[in-house]
Amino acid sequence: MARMDTITSREREETNPFVEVGKRIDAVCHRLKIREGINARLKVCERELIVNFPVRMDDDSLVIFTGYRVQHNDTRGPGKGGIRYHPDVDLDDTRALAALMTFKSAVVNIPYGGAKGAVVCNPRTLSIGELERLTRRYASEISLFIGPEKDIPAPDVGTNPQIMAWIMDTYSMTKGYSVLGVVTGKPLEIGGSRGRLEATGRGCVICARLAGKHIGLDLNGASVVVQGFGNVGAISAKLLAREGGKVIAVNDSTGAIHNAKGLDVEAVMRHKAESGSVVGYRPAEAIGSTDLLALQCDILVPAALEQQINEGNAASIKARMIVEGANGPTTAEATRILRDKGVFIVPDILANAGGVVVSYFEWVQGLQSFFWTEEEVNQRLQHVMDDAFHEVLEISQREKVDMREAAYMLAIGRVANAMMIRGIYP
Ligand code: NAD
Repeated sequence: MARMDTITSREREETNPFVEVGKRIDAVCHRLKIREGINARLKVCERELIVNFPVRMDDDSLVIFTGYRVQHNDTRGPGKGGIRYHPDVDLDDTRALAALMTFKSAVVNIPYGGAKGAVVCNPRTLSIGELERLTRRYASEISLFIGPEKDIPAPDVGTNPQIMAWIMDTYSMTKGYSVLGVVTGKPLEIGGSRGRLEATGRGCVICARLAGKHIGLDLNGASVVVQGFGNVGAISAKLLAREGGKVIAVNDSTGAIHNAKGLDVEAVMRHKAESGSVVGYRPAEAIGSTDLLALQCDILVPAALEQQINEGNAASIKARMIVEGANGPTTAEATRILRDKGVFIVPDILANAGGVVVSYFEWVQGLQSFFWTEEEVNQRLQHVMDDAFHEVLEISQREKVDMREAAYMLAIGRVANAMMIRGIYP
């Protein structure tokens, strides 16, 4: 890949997110005195599929795209995890994200394993027709691999409910009947769940409220900075503003905007829906994306991509609390720097688990063909997040470790226990 040409293999090793997950698995297994061999199993993915497939473009040319679907671990239930469309995604990113899904499902104690999918592409440059043809072909390439009992995809960066609808339709065509449970994050009209679109951001805000209570920070009046104004970031910003938070800066891949008096988040959402970018929204001033992370604020929500908070910028962060909306936004070294500065971090596998929880609710509703009200969905989400947050906090206080370490201890403990109870086949 282009990225590999410009960095050495040693640098790649240091920034490889799957290597970082592996180190964490070793450390936690060692700390929990988990039987030798379990860590080796958790450091590899159970199944990995690479597909190279053609798509007919609007100008009649054929372009070959590469896609992945990786199942990390299915001990506690079928694989679960999003599908990412991004030009820089590679197999190791997909493996790391699949492993994160195993541990995320375990932290919130839902009966899923972890999986992830990706297509190397830039969806912003594709027409709607090209996007549909690419999605349907990718879905058909991975259709033997996925299914309601095996592995259930959902949206991630660059994908959305419409893309889930095309996957559901393509899969259903191969079966000859409608299969609601093959993907989650679907539009409501075809078996989506009320509350799913907002669930990840809602889960982040539940965590921010609980963490605020723990460190003595009231969300009402708290200043908020959000990196990545997409599904997770924009919804987190909107719901934090509804709690009385003052969202002073947001950004996306095109640039950053700042208003010390607070942005009208729903107006920024409308501006982005119309123009494709947060840039140009008024009243606000344009700032650099590096400056955004260094702004004085109470709550920082990284909700863009991995490794955005790293050795290079962690020292400049002035937030009191970080709620990780994105997967893997903070490197291990940055976590150490921030912990020494006393920043309270709600880790990704807890903070952004609201999405997988409501995906689970969507799957359950689809299997039963019995659908819940939005209040029921939100109330059940609140219970699950509340329990998970307090279980992680309790471990963190008892074992004198940070919330990330505690979340991994809870998750890896649960997965390892399930592996030992099931035993090794044959
Ligand atoms: P999205 O595509 O809706 O939004 C991503 C946003 O980040 C976009 O606005 C994009 O412009 C912006 N962005 C990209 N690179 C950036 C950069 N370098 N700086 C600033 N902004 C940048 O994706 P999403 O679904 O909101 O996912 C965001 C993160 O949350 C990812 O890490 C994803 O894995 C994680 N996540 C998503 C869900 C979900 O339900 N969608 C659930 C759990 C975790």
